Amino acid sequence: MYTTLLADATLFEALLAIDHDLASTAHAGGCLLCGQRLDHADYPRKPRGGPATLGPGYDRRCSFCCDACRTRLTPVSVRFLGRKVYLGVVVVLACVLRQGPTPTRAARLRDQLGVSRDTLVRWHHWWRDAFVHSAFWKAARARFAPAVDETELPRSLLVRFGGEGDTPIRMVLRFLGPLTTTSASTLTAGRG
Ligand SMILES: [Zn+2]
Repeated sequence: MYTTLLADATLFEALLAIDHDLASTAHAGGCLLCGQRLDHADYPRKPRGGPATLGPGYDRRCSFCCDACRTRLTPVSVRFLGRKVYLGVVVVLACVLRQGPTPTRAARLRDQLGVSRDTLVRWHHWWRDAFVHSAFWKAARARFAPAVDETELPRSLLVRFGGEGDTPIRMVLRFLGPLTTTSASTLTAGRG
């Protein structure tokens, strides 16, 4: 069913709508430093791994620049995981598909999502290493009782959120939101 989600236009539209809401909230708040008005200063993106029907809204990551002090503010996103080229939903679900009792073969994921075996291995290490050692996760993991199995990430996280249909992946992407901003760039600086 996770394979179905990765081709589900409704999910991708919903994630875009959530990002628009997050951006509107950030814009309304004004500059974090001086409180002045924020101008649009989006980043162009060419995200990989989404369905062929991905709308034009996906060709940019919303960002703002202060009208007065030029400080940049990039709102959290449920679509883009830091500077990774692939969409966050792909970074999560492709790894989940490689886990569990009947893992999807790497060759199939390459055909369906264009994700190479090397990239899958790199993401796997990112979850087990950079992610589990991040300040974000060290603070957030205490929220889960019993603890989320760190050796089974990201599958263990998705299972823990639970719910029907695309609810778990939406919740995971929202949960990962703080990792998607520039303040977490040292963690997600590794592209790909
Ligand atoms: Zn400012």
